[in-house]
Amino acid sequence: MPTTGPLLLLKKMREIMEQRITSQARLDKIVHLIAANMVAEVCSIYLAKAGGWLELFATEGLNKAAVHATRLKMGEGIVGDVALNGRPLNLSDAPAHPSFSYRAETGEDPYQSMLGVPITRSGRTLGVLAVQNRTHRHYGDEEVEALLTVAMILAEMVVSGSLGDLGEIDAGPRRDRPWRGSGASFCEGIAMGRAVLHEPRVKVEKLIADDPASERLRLDQAIVDLRNSLDALLAAEDHVITGETRDVLETYRMFADDRGWLLKLREAVFTGLTAEAAVERVQNDMRARMARQTDSHMLDRMHDLDDLANRMLRHLTGKSDTSAHELLPADTILFARTMGPAELLDYDRTKLRGLVLEEGSPTSHVAIVARALDIPLIGRIEGVIDQVEPGDWVIADGDSADVHIRPAHDVREAYRHKLALRAQRQAAFSAQRAQPAVTIDGERIKLMMNAGLIADLPHLEESGAEGIGLFRTELQFMISGEMPRLQNLVELYGAVLDNAAGRPVVFRTLDLGGDKVLPYVRPVSEENPAMGWRAIRVTLDRPALLRYQIRALLRAAKGRDLDLMFPMVAEVAEFSTAKALVQRELERLAKTKDQPPRKIRVGTMLEVPALAFQLPALLSMTDFISVGSNDLAQFLFASDRGNPRLGNRYDVLSAPMLNFLKLIVDGARSRGVPVTICGEMAGRPLEAMALIGLGFRSLSMAPASIGPVKQMLLSLNSGRLSTFMSELYGRSDHSLREYLKQFAINESVQI
Ligand code: PEP
Ligand code: MG
Repeated sequence: MPTTGPLLLLKKMREIMEQRITSQARLDKIVHLIAANMVAEVCSIYLAKAGGWLELFATEGLNKAAVHATRLKMGEGIVGDVALNGRPLNLSDAPAHPSFSYRAETGEDPYQSMLGVPITRSGRTLGVLAVQNRTHRHYGDEEVEALLTVAMILAEMVVSGSLGDLGEIDAGPRRDRPWRGSGASFCEGIAMGRAVLHEPRVKVEKLIADDPASERLRLDQAIVDLRNSLDALLAAEDHVITGETRDVLETYRMFADDRGWLLKLREAVFTGLTAEAAVERVQNDMRARMARQTDSHMLDRMHDLDDLANRMLRHLTGKSDTSAHELLPADTILFARTMGPAELLDYDRTKLRGLVLEEGSPTSHVAIVARALDIPLIGRIEGVIDQVEPGDWVIADGDSADVHIRPAHDVREAYRHKLALRAQRQAAFSAQRAQPAVTIDGERIKLMMNAGLIADLPHLEESGAEGIGLFRTELQFMISGEMPRLQNLVELYGAVLDNAAGRPVVFRTLDLGGDKVLPYVRPVSEENPAMGWRAIRVTLDRPALLRYQIRALLRAAKGRDLDLMFPMVAEVAEFSTAKALVQRELERLAKTKDQPPRKIRVGTMLEVPALAFQLPALLSMTDFISVGSNDLAQFLFASDRGNPRLGNRYDVLSAPMLNFLKLIVDGARSRGVPVTICGEMAGRPLEAMALIGLGFRSLSMAPASIGPVKQMLLSLNSGRLSTFMSELYGRSDHSLREYLKQFAINESVQI
């Protein structure tokens, strides 16, 4: 094969790289070589300096005195435009471009045409490589490609520090200094450990091909392998390849046939890069474009292509996908851009301490699973993946939503202290585990836990919960890739009851819709999903689904007690219709040989305010009430529970909410109907105190909250609190929190 054009350029580049010369001499030779190869009168390298400057580091053709003297602001002139936008500019009439700016010291006025390409790495611009000609000239695609390839090699020189003797270059995030970022907390708790990247970056060691022809073959083979491996994954009957993961894989499979992408890869190899360097080059372009992309749809697509390129790099370098799983440190803090729930469940839980995501939302499935596993999760930390190196020391603080990477000694010490205190508290809670939850004045409080996955069940024993006050059955439907089979559901519910070993379990029927979507059901687009077609509204419109679930519950109970309830009931009529379906299923069961439950109690969630205004009718037909304070507060205050801007707008410890809760608890108690509260508020000690003051005697919460709440109530005189609170209900303050806190302090209640 003849060594021409781009190939010759790279061959000569390699010779320059191998020479034992100073960095400046190397850059000078590179610009000289490019100018000669591209028949350009000028070739210049600009590199980024701190403060948003671009400095001329080497030039062929411009005034040499301008080297290390000429500086441009990012965005200034054509060079600045290329840097700012991270994309090449190919101009046959440069002075006509709106960004053109004339710099006398470089003596560049007679030059008409210009091609500038960004020197980028991981989506960050490190500089600009530019060529210029006196005449009007249009640079061909092959020339643009060749320049991009050289720019990639320059980027490698910058980040590897081999230009260090030319002064500090702003090489983007330095991965050797402490870094701290804030995001949103999706699961509380503090974790300290070592960083593991869910999708490790693959370092490309060799950029320039020894034998370009064989690199082309390697690339083609890698594309075939990639397609085959995706096909194999999609065909496998693997439980891990569930709905979301499958969607992603299918998208990848589609992109693996994307002609534009494949063409770009082949062009990059054609310039003389190794196959893996070609993938990285194309990926660099992608990342630079991602950094500027605001359309979330396009961004998703680019992320997918970026992930696909990563997969391909692993193929080419022989680094398998699972290496991270095998070498998992004992205290792993996992970093990912985003992740599906099944992928998280795939990691060894005994080694996983924390999870950090660039994206995510509190209601995302991975967040639900992280909470079930009690793994601190901090999400929405922009750019965190670029900051972290595998093996870095990390503190993931799910309480404050901060992530510290390579924290300074004093930060680490402060956290060690914090963790030690937590451990002490935890030990104190464990010591109280067997102690009955009784207030100072002898009120017995039932502490139950919320659950939704098999992974939650061990917490029953550890937390000392008296049972499961809320079993969110939709989680199982959400994390599996297809509609669970009846038999699977019977087994799952049976396992829950087995684990509960006689302790009560309240199963809540499917609360789907809104943001709780099933991967295998096309989501319905709604203006207000939280107030939309969700929960009982869906299951009453699709009674077969509800009956299917009830059938599984009845069969699983087999001679044991069964408690079940419905979510989002807004009116008594809905409750009676749902209850009638249970009756029909019971009648159906009676016709089979299956053993019926010993006793069945059918109750309702109370989380839609309207239902409270039918209390007498409701109380006459329900076996129990469970107040869902999350939704109740959302609807009472007309304040979206998922909107971070409204997160602290209204306080549940305020007169409207407490008065409303009082109405419910007084009503239920006067009729002797058991009432529980199972929203987040039940798990916070001060809020739980107020709930006891209101009259609640049964609270259901996340397992980790049981210790702190029990500690609180063991030091509480509920009678004195009720008397104190009776003065509060009529107040007009925004919040009653401070009064309640003061009560706790004065009475030495441990909140
Ligand atoms: C609630 O709304 O308070 C509740 C417990 O249900 P969920 O959080 O599942 O909507
Ligand atoms: Mg709810």
